[in-house]
Amino acid sequence: MSNQKISKINAGIIGATGMVGQRFITLLSEHPYFNISVLAASPRSAGKKFSETIGGRWKMSVDIPESVKDMIVLDASDVGKVSSMCDFVFCAVELPKEETKKLEEAYAKTETPVVSNNSACRNLPDVPMLIPEINAFHAEVIETQRKRLGTKTGFITVKPNCSIQSYVPMLTPLLKYGVKEIAVTTYQAISGAGKSFEDWPEMIDNVIPFIGGEEEKSEKEPMKIWGGIKDGIVENAQTPPITSQCIRVPVTDGHLAAVFVKFEDRDSKPSKEEILKLWEEYKGEPQELNLPSAPEQFINYFEEDNRPQTKSERDLENGMAISAGRLREDSSGVFDYKFIGLSHNTLRGAAGGGVLSAEFLYRKGFIMKKS
Ligand code: NAP
Repeated sequence: MSNQKISKINAGIIGATGMVGQRFITLLSEHPYFNISVLAASPRSAGKKFSETIGGRWKMSVDIPESVKDMIVLDASDVGKVSSMCDFVFCAVELPKEETKKLEEAYAKTETPVVSNNSACRNLPDVPMLIPEINAFHAEVIETQRKRLGTKTGFITVKPNCSIQSYVPMLTPLLKYGVKEIAVTTYQAISGAGKSFEDWPEMIDNVIPFIGGEEEKSEKEPMKIWGGIKDGIVENAQTPPITSQCIRVPVTDGHLAAVFVKFEDRDSKPSKEEILKLWEEYKGEPQELNLPSAPEQFINYFEEDNRPQTKSERDLENGMAISAGRLREDSSGVFDYKFIGLSHNTLRGAAGGGVLSAEFLYRKGFIMKKS
């Protein structure tokens, strides 16, 4: 049932049968640090081999890895058993927030670190919400969280919502110039709702101008990412305000963002060349540490007017690189600049981002083998 290798860290996947869980499986099947040792999902999927229980629900373009086909899927609520079979877990479940929070804290309390893709714990100031290139230093609040949970090694980290990665990376290096206001419209893929065209035929030839809860996340979550640390917890940034609209569009994968920025002092705003240089040179801990999932080039600018496009750019550097394009001055004067951003929602924006966070946490000693 388990596929333990002594030298690697054993990872469990909670929600292994879902869209994000399947991505975790494909990303971890040959990972240099981590080994999939246990899969868990709802009681509906539990008790059967993964290949049997997943049936026609496998949505990845590559086959199910041989190493997990025969693993018996466990019930995620059997926290004691699942956590005894791994050193840490990735968690991506479709459950009400309170239940998700309870489940994640139950795992953390068994001294099993949780790298979560869920939103339930994102607002807690002692839970770091990581994009490791941007705010790796937030990991230091784990110490405060461990005190709250009464754990020695267990903790929870979260990833931001999948839309955030398509615009926050480009905005972050501009903040030092004093950004006054930001407007963003995101055009989000159907896999962001855990769906494919087969199970969501209404999306073919259609656009839906509403994604529940998404605008609030798109406006609020960057404030935590841009926050500082005070008294051992993350203190959210208060500015710049972001207004957003989030639209579901008929593409399989890839969230695109149309972004507008206004600076406080419009006379000393950066030039287009300065912004492009900032983007080109932007890197963080994942690149410094040469983490296995880190893109070599974090932000990739495309000069062509019709790029980045969802289909051609989403898989850049295994779906972990961010694409940008169409940076231009706003000739209307309403804003200073406009640009387009793009990221892969289930790779950089979900499972890939989770794996990158786990690699960082492992290299920094937060995730380790249980003794
Ligand atoms: P999904 O495809 O609907 O999968 C949901 C998963 O949750 C399945 O494995 C399901 O297991 C499991 N689950 C449902 N009820 C459960 C229970 N009672 N106990 C344990 N597991 C249970 O959803 P998804 O798109 O992968 O999203 C999962 C999470 O990641 C959500 O919180 C979502 O907001 C977040 N997320 C998704 C994306 C994305 O791009 N898709 C991006 C960022 C974050 P069964 O198959 O047994 O029902």
